[in-house]
Amino acid sequence: MRIELDESGKQQRNSELPLILAVEDNEDNLLIINYVVDSLNCRFIGEADGTKTLLIARESQPNLILLDIMLPETNGIDLFRGLKQDSSTSHIPVIAVTALARAEEKKHILEAGFDAYISKPYMLEEIEELICSYLNLKQNPQ
Ligand code: MN
Repeated sequence: MRIELDESGKQQRNSELPLILAVEDNEDNLLIINYVVDSLNCRFIGEADGTKTLLIARESQPNLILLDIMLPETNGIDLFRGLKQDSSTSHIPVIAVTALARAEEKKHILEAGFDAYISKPYMLEEIEELICSYLNLKQNPQ
């Protein structure tokens, strides 16, 4: 990651760190993603309420969104369509995070246009690898 020093100091550098938004109703999964994002020295917003996804994405302009498909009030595929229809969020890559495992459901998710797909339960390394590849980050040496 390239960090430029300038006269505006630390706050400025900090705001240049990549920002990842994870929308996930399961607190444990949210903690795992938070842990991985911290280890990559990226900024993190975790949100359990899917209905806030569009608003948060518009306001915070994350570099990447990890979106749970099964959410209590809504679902990730509808949210994804909303993100892609909004010109202020349509450029943001979105990775589907889901426990849905049947081949037909995977097909449905990829046909909707998600950039990538990760199934739960996932390994920390898998999610780290995905985040790194979308943000062009170097992974920490294992
Ligand atoms: Mn869920």
